[in-house]
Amino acid sequence: LNRRLDGFGTTIFAEMSALAVRTGAINLGQGFPDTDGPQEVREAAVRALRDGRGNQYPPGPGVPELRTAVTEHQQRFYGLAFDPDTEVLVTAGATEAIAATMLALLEPGDEVIAFEPYYDSYAACISMAGATRVPLTLRAPDFRPDLDALRDAVTDRTRLLLLNSPHNPTGMVLTRVELTAIAELAVERDLIVVTDEVYEHLTYDGAEHIPLISLPGMRDRTVAISSAGKTYSFTGWKVGWITGSAPLVGAVRTAKQFLTYVSSGPFQYAVAEALRLPDAYFTGFREGMRAKRDILADGLTAAGFEVFRPQGTYFITTDIAGLGEKDAPAFCRGLPERCGVVAVPNSVFYDDPQAGRSQVRFAFCKRDDVLREAAVRLQR
Ligand code: PMP
Ligand code: GLN
Repeated sequence: LNRRLDGFGTTIFAEMSALAVRTGAINLGQGFPDTDGPQEVREAAVRALRDGRGNQYPPGPGVPELRTAVTEHQQRFYGLAFDPDTEVLVTAGATEAIAATMLALLEPGDEVIAFEPYYDSYAACISMAGATRVPLTLRAPDFRPDLDALRDAVTDRTRLLLLNSPHNPTGMVLTRVELTAIAELAVERDLIVVTDEVYEHLTYDGAEHIPLISLPGMRDRTVAISSAGKTYSFTGWKVGWITGSAPLVGAVRTAKQFLTYVSSGPFQYAVAEALRLPDAYFTGFREGMRAKRDILADGLTAAGFEVFRPQGTYFITTDIAGLGEKDAPAFCRGLPERCGVVAVPNSVFYDDPQAGRSQVRFAFCKRDDVLREAAVRLQR
């Protein structure tokens, strides 16, 4: 393993899902739903396969049907207009979008500012691009960004900000006031901002997802990333996309060509249909997930965890100090044995693992009865 990947080893998600399989424990670790997405979307994939649409290499930027559907979605939910030919790129999930964006836009030695805890691929992709990450810590209980610290962290070498909202693992959702301050800073310091919006449809309690790219001055300096995995409950399909200005999307396309060249054809046609589902799908999905959040949050509270109730995503971050525990990795390794539940230690999402030492993340994208059973086991 080269030095750029030194220390990255096996992702926590693979490790924890393997632990769940080995022990038969309820898997609240890796974030994937235990119920597949809409039947009509699955049937669209079957139709595409059967009718021979996408069974051979689709066009590099993605099939036109999907690129158009992405632009319609951006218009419908955010009033944003994009050109499907030059301002949309289909990727192999948001994961490839993040990797291709980092490889396309960063020079060795550039600095990338990201709030920690962060999704684990950020650090690895920044490192593979030869750049340096500059983490800014979000702190419990509400995990709001420190905007003064952000301003102070920008140097002459800062090339981009990598933002995630709704935020995995804390569930924090950036407000319009915060986004406005970030946009002003980006314009002032001439920064590119990459926004990971894969949980764009999962916000609760009045929190609203606002794409940074919709703010003044951001249209030409933002790469907006999303994915079908979370919104439509098909994490195995690995269809994602970016939207942004033609020069930025074109740069990312250049890198993407040499990573995967193209992404899975038949699923692209199915995701085009998913993006056009009626509004009722999105409200029902969000409402169902909010109810699941409440089931798990209440169960965890009853079991003695300190619960940081998320405003978005399908994860709950907790603190285990109140249980007399202080080492999240050890706690998570022992949890399947102790009570038949798998969770993820947040320490892996920090540059300084001490920062998240007593934090544990639980995923609630599971059937209600599974969440209730997990709560019962944890209370035991
Ligand atoms: N970003 C975040 C914040 C995530 O939680 C995930 C996991 N789904 C991804 C990106 C990767 O998305 P995908 O499965 O579409 O590659
Ligand atoms: N995004 C999911 C999570 O945070 C898992 C993605 C993965 O397994 N790489 O749990």
